Amino acid sequence: MGREKVILAPPMPRTTLITGGAGFLGSHLAERLLAAGDAVLVLDDLSTGRRSNLAAVDGRPGFELHVGSATDPALVRELTARADVVCHLAAAVGVKLIVEQPVHTIVTNVDATRVVLDAASERETPVLFASTSEVYGKSEAVPFREDADVSLGATTRSRWSYACSKALDEWLALAYHAERGLPVTIARFFNVVGPRQTGRYGMVLPTFARQALRGAPLTVYGDGTQTRCFAHVRDVVEAAAHLLDRPDAVGQVVNVGSDEEVAIGELAERVRAAAASASEILHVPYAEAYAEGFEDMQRRVPDLAKLERLIGFRPVTPLDETIRDVLEAQRSPSAV
Ligand code: UDP
Repeated sequence: MGREKVILAPPMPRTTLITGGAGFLGSHLAERLLAAGDAVLVLDDLSTGRRSNLAAVDGRPGFELHVGSATDPALVRELTARADVVCHLAAAVGVKLIVEQPVHTIVTNVDATRVVLDAASERETPVLFASTSEVYGKSEAVPFREDADVSLGATTRSRWSYACSKALDEWLALAYHAERGLPVTIARFFNVVGPRQTGRYGMVLPTFARQALRGAPLTVYGDGTQTRCFAHVRDVVEAAAHLLDRPDAVGQVVNVGSDEEVAIGELAERVRAAAASASEILHVPYAEAYAEGFEDMQRRVPDLAKLERLIGFRPVTPLDETIRDVLEAQRSPSAV
């Protein structure tokens, strides 16, 4: 008797649900996963996300946009049931928005995460949760390691409600993992920038780019010695896509970003030079820049050892190249 012939089924495309997938980071992740053969379901309420961010993937086979809220349990349950993995990015984002609408920030961030984790735990669908370097708060222990203490300001300052809501989300996600066996990975993103990011919610690089291209003053808040590390969104979604494939990332908190540190004052100069702009650089006191007494972080640098250990690389695009990409995107007619 001949041996039974084994016919290997072709690999099924994975279906990924991206909440907040019409946002800046989510839309780049949708493109990256579709390019790799995933089917992608996007859930977005189009509050800060935009349909136009998905122009490159709209109408592609395997892509669906669902307009609705990540706090809607029935809708989230229905989409999660169709997904092999969930990337939960939907959140109220941007420091400006948070200072202006603290109730919306807290409720959205905590409710949506609870709803998504609950839906995912029905079938133990793996979840990648998008957290933020904000959770380190005012810690000065740079570079920030994932297991370091967080240090938040007073509850009378609504600025910290964003960090606290995301920290609570992290605790909730880790609790679902520990108590209910849900496979969860937490990515703490550090100042992700790139094409399609709008300056409307206060982010500094798109704001400087727009100002430089219009010949308007570049508004440096405070004395400009505060530093950040800006990671190109292309690198960041590459890292996120790899994290999805790493079973040893489950149950882990992982910093994702660049560790090329730059002072905001110097960033303004580099943007102005790259744009060949004659704009002046204007120092704006924090009291004028933000709606309430504001505490800024002086330095923010990720420790990327864990990310590198898990996925074998780290974001690498040099800052000057990132600045050029942002300027180029803003020069295009569709830029906002
Ligand atoms: N910032 C600035 N000018 C602006 C917007 C922001 O100097 O027009 C500063 C802000 O105070 C902070 C840094 O740039 O020190 C990064 O701000 P962003 O809101 O982009 O991100 P954050 O790291 O604060 O989340």
